[in-house]
Amino acid sequence: MKPIDYINREDLYGAHNYHPLPVVLDRGEGVFVWDVEGKKYFDFLSAYSAVNQGHCHPKIIGALVQQASKLTLTSRAFYNSTLGEYEEFVTKYFGYEKVLPMNSGAEGDETALKLCRKWAYTKKGIAENQAKIIVCDGNFHGRTISIISMSTDPDSYGGFGPFTPGFIKIPYNDIPALEAALQDPNVAGFLVEPIQGEAGVYVPDEGYLSTAYKLCKEKNVLFIADEVQTGIARTGKLLACDHEKVRPDILILGKALSGGVYPISAVLADNDIMLCIKPGEHGSTFGGNPIAAKVAIAALEVIRDEKLAENAENLGKIFRSELLKIKSDRIELVRGKGLLNAAVIRPKGEQTAWDVCIALKENGLLAKPTHDHIIRFAPPLVINESQIMEAAGIIRETIEGM
Ligand code: PLP
Repeated sequence: MKPIDYINREDLYGAHNYHPLPVVLDRGEGVFVWDVEGKKYFDFLSAYSAVNQGHCHPKIIGALVQQASKLTLTSRAFYNSTLGEYEEFVTKYFGYEKVLPMNSGAEGDETALKLCRKWAYTKKGIAENQAKIIVCDGNFHGRTISIISMSTDPDSYGGFGPFTPGFIKIPYNDIPALEAALQDPNVAGFLVEPIQGEAGVYVPDEGYLSTAYKLCKEKNVLFIADEVQTGIARTGKLLACDHEKVRPDILILGKALSGGVYPISAVLADNDIMLCIKPGEHGSTFGGNPIAAKVAIAALEVIRDEKLAENAENLGKIFRSELLKIKSDRIELVRGKGLLNAAVIRPKGEQTAWDVCIALKENGLLAKPTHDHIIRFAPPLVINESQIMEAAGIIRETIEGM
């Protein structure tokens, strides 16, 4: 089969809810992927920051294969020999008393919303059905009905109403707006991405998270961090909140919690919050299954053992400084933290960020536009200095050549 045959088959039989770049991938290892014709590419998307540990990391794949041939799924109707090991590991790793395991990032966010509302009624004393959660304009927390009810992006919510009530939307990176919204006594939580990834890698001002956290504490409001994309070393620290020494009351993780091997998400909190949810009130058939448990332990060990946060911090600085050297009026702005970066592309005639991504693909580097004018650059964190220089060279030559 030729690449176009694969593309046409997906087009014919699959729902059209994505618009992929025309490249058909077949194999991956570390920071590289290969297409069905054997052409090699730098992967600068990392499956939206899920593959932080690199493609097919042998330790994570080893954990997957070993557990897959022993026990895959018991459901939570019974205890099993791996879940407790994972729960102890992950709670100690992130410094929380309890974890609630789920599968996708969206489920993690849904879980956090439910947990926050339950806490509002059982602990904070908000009247039944009155709890509100503050969210930010430009957010991306996933695709469920409740989550898109928080969205300000018409592509996400348009045509999918009616929506879930109970959310207050305020501008991102706006402390006075948060202060004003917190005056409402029915506010139970503030849900925030420490860096807005899907919106285009918007990095808030220094001090935003720590001030927001302090304001939440003053009003007995839960600070809920969605670190599905920013967490697990992506921004140069284990969590993006660590840059401001903020410890969220509820922490949501996903994506790289599995190294991109398996859908695994988690919500972490201490007992006074987490134990508000009682048996039978929340769950998931696959959440915390034995394969997920073993895969997540291995994935987190790789992050720690290979010092991937430090690598992201160091190489992120080098990468941004290389991008800033590009001599082209096509690049309006470069921003990011660690290895979560973006270039804002100035359109030229008909050419948009999409055309830049097509040209990058031709030159051996895969990246995807977010919105029309932003390209996110987020390679696996196992990338080394010579590889980041080579990749930056491809980006420079491509953009200067356009
Ligand atoms: N939260 C954030 C910050 C995300 O970036 C994403 C996905 O990009 C999600 C939640 C949703 O994760 P999933 O696609 O696994 O449901």
